[in-house]
Amino acid sequence: MDHGPYPFGFADDDYRQLLEQVRDRDLLADLEHLAGLANELAAIAEAQQRIILEFADDDTPGGNRAVAEILLADTLRKLEASRFEFDRRLGLYLRTAGHPLARRFPPADDSLRERIRAVKAAWPIDRFVEVVLGADLTPTKPGQWTCRCPLPWHEDRTPSFVVFGEGNTAKCFGCLRGGDVLDLTKYAFGLDRVYDQLAQLERLAGIGKRGRS
Ligand SMILES: [Zn+2]
Repeated sequence: MDHGPYPFGFADDDYRQLLEQVRDRDLLADLEHLAGLANELAAIAEAQQRIILEFADDDTPGGNRAVAEILLADTLRKLEASRFEFDRRLGLYLRTAGHPLARRFPPADDSLRERIRAVKAAWPIDRFVEVVLGADLTPTKPGQWTCRCPLPWHEDRTPSFVVFGEGNTAKCFGCLRGGDVLDLTKYAFGLDRVYDQLAQLERLAGIGKRGRS
């Protein structure tokens, strides 16, 4: 079965392996729909980010860049929602089935949402990139900065890394990695699990452990 491109940053094999665990045909169809939707949204976001960069010097209200920025923020919200729903549904199924792969999908419960909200509030994206990743940010316009890519394994000779204050995201147009503070924590510290990313961000922000061992 060809699943097409692999959404949500899964490696090819991981994605196939995950979906092969799903015996519920309706759920599988829903997951593949969500994955297809995410791939379309990711392609749209790429195009919108290209427009924003292309019209970087254009400050016209309602101009190409202004419109692309509004559309991009909307696309990123939809992409986040589809990723959240994909993880929630697949994670719930795998946990119910007692499958070891379920470890990759922590429960999408309120306490997790609250912890994510708290670390995002503690670490606005520009502050995280500057303080934690040690980047030297150059403002390009209100709420947007560039710098050389601060992520490991990318020797960036020109500033390819763009920080989007409004969407609270960042992206490297050289190595194509990016996302929110959790994604950047994954790349910067090699932490694949959301719980590990949260713990790292909480530690860096001095947020208490909330009774977790
Ligand atoms: Zn990079």
